[in-house]
Amino acid sequence: MSKGIQNIAVMTSGGDAPGMNPAIRAVVRASVYYNKEIFGIYRGYEGLIEGDIERFTARKVSNIINRGGTILKTARSEEFRSVEGRKKAYENLIKNNIDALVVIGGDGSFRGMKIFAEEFDFPVVGIPATIDNDISGTDYTIGFDTAANTAMEAIDKIRDTASSHNRLFFIEVMGRDAGFLAAYSGIAGGAEDILIPEKDRGVDSLLQALKRSKRSGKTSSIVVVAEGEKSGKNVFELARYVEQNLHDYEARVVIIGHIQRGGCPSVFDRVLGSRLGVAAVEALLDGQRNVVTGFRNNNVIVYPLEEAITEQKGVSKELIRIIPILTT
Ligand code: ADP
Repeated sequence: MSKGIQNIAVMTSGGDAPGMNPAIRAVVRASVYYNKEIFGIYRGYEGLIEGDIERFTARKVSNIINRGGTILKTARSEEFRSVEGRKKAYENLIKNNIDALVVIGGDGSFRGMKIFAEEFDFPVVGIPATIDNDISGTDYTIGFDTAANTAMEAIDKIRDTASSHNRLFFIEVMGRDAGFLAAYSGIAGGAEDILIPEKDRGVDSLLQALKRSKRSGKTSSIVVVAEGEKSGKNVFELARYVEQNLHDYEARVVIIGHIQRGGCPSVFDRVLGSRLGVAAVEALLDGQRNVVTGFRNNNVIVYPLEEAITEQKGVSKELIRIIPILTT
């Protein structure tokens, strides 16, 4: 293993995701295990620019594996988008003798990290964490499983009230560019229809499907809609349109919103965060640079940062194909 790296820093950046704490814990514990110094940077790139950095011990991350959110806090930083901002960030790393940086975050954070690494020739490793699961190269990102379970539980509860009143519910879940949360929570929650950005179904096809479902004897329906669904109507317009054209139902809209970001991480996210955290430190000590840790075909992998941010990842063709079968 590379003797060059002695001091490692870890941060969480961008949108928060349940499972970030287990990943922080794993990075800290792995660094301590390999006799390296480990620093926590608070509030992502914003905190790095301001020098909000603390030396961590293994005990600093005790009792956090079960906690949602991130003990390091997270932030978005406009200043880091400028060379001047990134220079301040670099100077703070050098001032603290930090040799390498682990960034736990989404594709925006990875984009910033790539520019930074190239500009200052600084060793970085990314750990993909976003509830949207929209990072290429890894089958799952930290936080997705917990968020999908939260959305599914909300759908289950709404189904109870929907069936009591013969209502049609439109449930909006997060996911601007990718429909993973909608597809998984919709399938798991037995939705009558699922609208995702990867497939522009058109509102009339939705209307026809709901009419068919009504004719087949259903008295209530749940339609799960991803935030970034491409029909051109927002979820309220969609509900109004369907209500105007399908008179038998009273339509209601529920936006699950930020509840999806919170809560204790699931077993899957805790274990994924733990595995990817250890892999990130080991990759750095193995001399790997500008890489991301991920989980592919049931294996922990390390792959180029470039791949994580350049390719578009969406719901698989297989899932898209089976949605109409399951919602018949
Ligand atoms: P996420 O990591 O969840 O996708 P964002 O897209 O908000 O979140 O990105 C987090 C932060 O990463 C931004 O606030 C910014 O500081 C940094 N960042 C994103 N894109 C760039 C970029 N092209 N250049 C420099 N920094 C960037």
